[in-house]
Amino acid sequence: MGRIEEINGRAVVPGDTICVIEEFLPGPWTYVDGGAIKAAITGNVYVDITTRTVGVRPTVKLFEVPMRGGYVYGYVVMVKDEFAIIKIVSNTHGTKYASTFTGLLHVSQSSDKFIKNLYDVVRVGDIVKAKVLNDAPPFNLTLKEPRLGVILAFCGICGSRLTRLSTDTLKCPSCSNIEKRKVSIDYGNLKGL
Ligand SMILES: [Zn+2]
Repeated sequence: MGRIEEINGRAVVPGDTICVIEEFLPGPWTYVDGGAIKAAITGNVYVDITTRTVGVRPTVKLFEVPMRGGYVYGYVVMVKDEFAIIKIVSNTHGTKYASTFTGLLHVSQSSDKFIKNLYDVVRVGDIVKAKVLNDAPPFNLTLKEPRLGVILAFCGICGSRLTRLSTDTLKCPSCSNIEKRKVSIDYGNLKGL
């Protein structure tokens, strides 16, 4: 068996020796220690023959990403008649994602009630709690649970923080403006955000 076949695909944990530095160059997720190339992360070794490097493909999740069935927080960046775009920033357990993910809220997933106009559900700048429906971006979101919906919104007239009036209305304490939304029963509770 050749040396490459021997190394390639081998399962390693941090600190495991992969080979000596005379054999290959250290690649991604490796480090050099006392003349040996060692694994810096749990994963499987791969050999790149063209660059003569060895690296480790991580088996652990490096970054948290939204998951199907998971609950997330995001802010509304665009609202159209049929759908809204929501930037997902964290999950509801307090894990902030390394970058934001694009979420799509279709009007059919916006409420249990019949919705004529998505502007009655969310508006740009609102912070929402949503559930993820699929495994890859763009993430399809739903607000169809009592805990889901807008959890923080500001008055369209004076910019004050709105307070919850009912499941579908918010009121401005400063100018008494009333606005429609799909309001979460957790409105105002920003735990984990
Ligand atoms: Zn106001």
